[in-house]
Amino acid sequence: MNKITTLIITFLLMGVVLTAGCVDEQSSSDATSNSDSDTIIVGVSIVPQQQFVEKIAGDNVEVVVMVPPGASPHSYEPTPSQLTALSDAKMYAMVGSGITVEDTMIGKLEDLNSDMLIVDCSEGITLVEMVAHSHDEEEHDHEAEGEEHDHEEEEGLDPHIWTSPDNVEIMVENIYQGLVEVDPDNQETYLANKNAYLAELAELDEQIQTTLEGKEGTSFMVYHPAWGYFAKHYGITQVPVEIEGKEPSVQDMQNLIDEAKEKGIKVIFVQSGFSTVSAEAIASEIDGEVVELDPLAKDYIDNLSKVAEAFKEGLA
Ligand SMILES: [Zn+2]
Repeated sequence: MNKITTLIITFLLMGVVLTAGCVDEQSSSDATSNSDSDTIIVGVSIVPQQQFVEKIAGDNVEVVVMVPPGASPHSYEPTPSQLTALSDAKMYAMVGSGITVEDTMIGKLEDLNSDMLIVDCSEGITLVEMVAHSHDEEEHDHEAEGEEHDHEEEEGLDPHIWTSPDNVEIMVENIYQGLVEVDPDNQETYLANKNAYLAELAELDEQIQTTLEGKEGTSFMVYHPAWGYFAKHYGITQVPVEIEGKEPSVQDMQNLIDEAKEKGIKVIFVQSGFSTVSAEAIASEIDGEVVELDPLAKDYIDNLSKVAEAFKEGLA
């Protein structure tokens, strides 16, 4: 077994997602490749980025994803062998918006592989503040507790930039620029693929606008507030249940129930990897239901269409 094959088997055993590309040794006819394989390894942090890279580069790349499906990008720590797998990578695409997994990893990656191009997908995207919880002023005790709590938004900025298609258009552009830099021979192909995917994203955006027509100004409740950019883009309001990365207190719960009743909220959204206990409790108090959304699904366009339908049903 060659080195790459060994690494890939290691990854599969660890449950880390890799592209389903061909990993057989390819002919070394490409004289421009200076690595021990023609396949370009590209690292990414989260699963949706895997799709963005593959839409542009197709089978030319093997994508290594750091945060496996079901894990939280706010708490996951890459294993040493995951980092080792990036020692031959040509490029790493950071989300760049302050997700914890990247804060702890990027320095290590630079030490491991100084030749690797690091792309910041958030370049050109304006980060917005996390929606302040509407009961902050009544909950001073939380602030004190929150100080020592190691949560995602150190500067209070919302890291979930990829939940809005207009941001993804910028992320895709940044990834494209990086791919052209590490693989200039394929620029034409990458440009055509990138433009085709951007057209799909623009179509998705229009489709969601249509789906959510008439819902502007309405509110939704969600356990982990991953949909801030989506909400902002489509003119709806996100009400988080989780407070500073933690379960709400009994008082918070009562406030949330009151708010849900007041706003006519009937659905509490949750996501895999996070507790559903408080969402279930609120739902039972308001005679509503808990609906799961996935902000980290691989098939971005298909997933966001489904998400929009769920919002259409769930928004008051
Ligand atoms: Zn999150």
